[in-house]
Amino acid sequence: MVRRAWTGLTRRARAWTVEYVSHGDGSLGAHDGFRRPWTEHRARSTATASAQGLYDLQGLRAPEDFDRLARETISKCEAMARALKAAAPSAASVGALDEISDEVCRVVDVAEVCRHTHPSREYVIAAEKAYVRLQDYVASLNADGDLYEALRSARERDAKNLSDEGARVALTLQEDFERGGIHLDPARRRDFDGSLSRSLELGMEFQRNLLRPELASRVSLDKSTLSSLPKTVRDQFRSNDGKLWTGLVDSSNSSLMLRHLRDSNARRDVFIAANTGPEPNKDVLANLISSRAGVAHSLGFETYAKYATAPLLARSPDAVREFLLSLSDVLRQSAKDEYAVIEKYNHGKHISVWDKTYAMAQARGHECEFNSAAIAEYFPLEGVIVGIGELLARVLGLRIELQELAPGEGWTNDLKKLVVKTRDGDMRGTIYLDLLPRPGKFNHAAHFVIRCSRMVSPTERQHPSVALVCNFPPVSGKGRSLLSHGEVETFLHEFGHAMHSVLSDTEFQHLSGTRAPMDIVEVPSHLFEHFAWDPSALKLLGKHYMTHEPIPDAMISALRKSRNIFRSIESQQQVVFALTDLELHNQTSELSSKSIADLAATIQNEHSMFKPVSGTNWELRFGHFVGYGATYYSYLYADVLADDIWKRYFEGDSLAAGAAESLRDKLLRHGGSRDPEKVIRDLLGKDSLIEVNGGFRPLIQQ
Ligand SMILES: [Zn+2]
Repeated sequence: MVRRAWTGLTRRARAWTVEYVSHGDGSLGAHDGFRRPWTEHRARSTATASAQGLYDLQGLRAPEDFDRLARETISKCEAMARALKAAAPSAASVGALDEISDEVCRVVDVAEVCRHTHPSREYVIAAEKAYVRLQDYVASLNADGDLYEALRSARERDAKNLSDEGARVALTLQEDFERGGIHLDPARRRDFDGSLSRSLELGMEFQRNLLRPELASRVSLDKSTLSSLPKTVRDQFRSNDGKLWTGLVDSSNSSLMLRHLRDSNARRDVFIAANTGPEPNKDVLANLISSRAGVAHSLGFETYAKYATAPLLARSPDAVREFLLSLSDVLRQSAKDEYAVIEKYNHGKHISVWDKTYAMAQARGHECEFNSAAIAEYFPLEGVIVGIGELLARVLGLRIELQELAPGEGWTNDLKKLVVKTRDGDMRGTIYLDLLPRPGKFNHAAHFVIRCSRMVSPTERQHPSVALVCNFPPVSGKGRSLLSHGEVETFLHEFGHAMHSVLSDTEFQHLSGTRAPMDIVEVPSHLFEHFAWDPSALKLLGKHYMTHEPIPDAMISALRKSRNIFRSIESQQQVVFALTDLELHNQTSELSSKSIADLAATIQNEHSMFKPVSGTNWELRFGHFVGYGATYYSYLYADVLADDIWKRYFEGDSLAAGAAESLRDKLLRHGGSRDPEKVIRDLLGKDSLIEVNGGFRPLIQQ
């Protein structure tokens, strides 16, 4: 019933930035599947005016309330499960399962956002305890054979009384149960459980090794070399003997170093440090892949990639591979052209992979007259929020109202609460904005679900609630938080997720909003990123923090040029990551650490302008293998679909109302409740997906 319980807390990182997404498709893990009952929800629909507690969760007023809420939830769900099992299986059983799911999610989703955002340690600790306790409870529901049998019988006996959505909810619930091994005979079940717990442990060990100080990579640079680095990075270095300075190299500072270091030898040293070790991950990765293969075999799948892609739009590794290879073909020539541009600014000299970032920054500086600080003056945070409100009003006919927080509702002083209504004033949902950094806060950008949309009675909807959590620049000397253009794009990306949640019209919560397959859940967010590059939208979003003048045309042109200038080279890198992730998880025989390294190097050789460096092994530092496992392709896949939607509906007249309304009616309102193949063909035409051995890949336009 609960999806991918074993992946734990998975967040999808947006391809080439540090943005993280929370639980689009329920990969949030163990709990998504459980929600609250019809009966108790009546009072909730007008709840936004007076909050019921912290994060708008009824009864949450102090840290110790988490423990009580978790206990009450479990005992209420136990009673509901008993009633469900005692009743004759019917279509109503599906609704009853959804209600149990809603009941659990109501608390566990708040525990999840709280443990990542609350400034008080007491709250964080209490939220973590409740989170773990409820996850354990969910695991017991997932293993409840009687619930599973009730669902199976309901599907067999009473299918005629299930709506299309109800049938899909029932089907995915059953698949989710079975992907947890519930239907296996005892011997197979033991194998499955063993492989599953090994793969979980190995995934955690892989990540832990990336953080162990004794396994960290270091680089020593001389003082004069160091001077070209930004101060924040320079300050991380310590002097050995007055001449050489040593610092740690990690994923957060290496790209800054590679962009700013003027000395090519120093860049080489940093690149090698950033793409080497930790040595123990050689075995850990090989064993992780092998134990995942064990999980797949126990469930009757030939490979882990077949198992991982089966519930997604792509449906098969063959479709994913064909997609990535086609994309690579399309990118090949344009990447060559882009390389020639970089080479020109490198005095015609060959560019090694460690020089790539620096050389691209230099070339970009020459080609695009671009002053990031001047551009940021057009994106004061408050202004961008107003601009997004205007944008949503124009394209989706929504009314976005800034509402005061009720006493006890907010978790930080700078929190903002947006209430989303239709043009006619009908309530759609709530978006909390927690946008500025503070110590201990979740340090990426994310969309957290707080409450899902669902019908609580034939005439009444539970309104969804989400939190967008970002870390935009603190208020500067200019008296404002001024966003870089990249941060505006990230913000729009998260708003795309929020619109998916808020505009969801599903009957059940199980597949509402962003609880959709991973390769489609990123489509709205990628589509919304396009507004950050669109001249008409930019005029709404970018107003100077002092003069309120809209962003000038020349700046927009420079921005647009910078977007495309090295896009193919950057996408090639993502193809390399995605193909490696796919192929490592699609082998039918065991892989040694040597064969893993060879496979990664072969793929890079084939699909990137920049050749692998002998002795380095980026794959040992690629933490996304843990969270994605054969599904890292989803970002590129969603990006291609979003591009297609943009071209078809928005390009040339991006603010026209009809375009986004098609998007709302054909995609957003369904959440994950409609077969994604139908959703995409309905939106983009029947030829927009190409069938590959029972799976699908998007048509890639040049
Ligand atoms: Zn996203």
